[in-house]
Amino acid sequence: MIEVTVAPLAHQMGGLGVVMVCRDVSAQRQVDRMRQDFVANVSHELQTPLTIIRGFTETLMDDIDSESRERFIRLIHDEANRMSRLVDDLLTLSRMDHHTLPVAVTGVDIPILVESIFAKLGPRAREGQLSLVNQLPTPMPLVAGDADLLAEVFLNLVQNAIQYTPAGGQVTISGHAHVSHQMVAVWVEDTGIGIPAQDLPRIFERFYRVDKARSRASGGTGLGLAIVKHIIELHHGRIEVKSTVGQGTRFTLWLPEFQTGQEKGS
Ligand code: ADP
Repeated sequence: MIEVTVAPLAHQMGGLGVVMVCRDVSAQRQVDRMRQDFVANVSHELQTPLTIIRGFTETLMDDIDSESRERFIRLIHDEANRMSRLVDDLLTLSRMDHHTLPVAVTGVDIPILVESIFAKLGPRAREGQLSLVNQLPTPMPLVAGDADLLAEVFLNLVQNAIQYTPAGGQVTISGHAHVSHQMVAVWVEDTGIGIPAQDLPRIFERFYRVDKARSRASGGTGLGLAIVKHIIELHHGRIEVKSTVGQGTRFTLWLPEFQTGQEKGS
């Protein structure tokens, strides 16, 4: 969009005629629109659990049986946890936007990191009758990165894979080293519901969800993949997704190999 400003010429210049200044303001408008959408989304995401909490507390004020009381208290607790997760994710994104997120680069052993994520998510996978399979080659070259941030990446991807895969399915992590490019490739693959082609380009956007109800029901904030992408870019890496509806999804990460003497802390 072009913004045109017309002003009369200054007196010193004879006061005759006008100056016309043309400026492309589309980019600025787009940034403003994105900021407004983001604030609207955050307000909505906070409003939903608050409405539920208010409703349940009002019911608790009435004389209700102890079984219902216990159920309502548990639901209030779940909604408060959802708000906490949302605020944590928003703070992480804000620190990334302002470049204030501490990043300590060391040599990260991805197979060991994946084992710890699988140990953490094992109970959830068993609950959903899913198997977690680690097919990473060992040894693998170390990756140059922040161990905590990379753990957050794998936690998010494996949690999503578990979340969007029906019982009896499988979540697999595999990888290999691209020695010539000094990059390591790792992929997280599931046999789940998949993502429709038209949604694929948008899933890394903040608050974008394919199925809002399903994401909310699972306690998702809709910010996980936005955080994952940000972290990978902080590591000078790349993330790609391929998916087929009804068959499954594969997220592939390319991360730089660690070179001796590369440690950096902040
Ligand atoms: P959420 O908290 O909703 O999971 P994310 O940012 O992690 O938010 O993911 C965005 C959306 O991408 C999800 O709501 C879901 O629709 C889709 N998605 C992410 N991972 C998968 C997956 N492994 N299989 C199918 N859909 C997925």
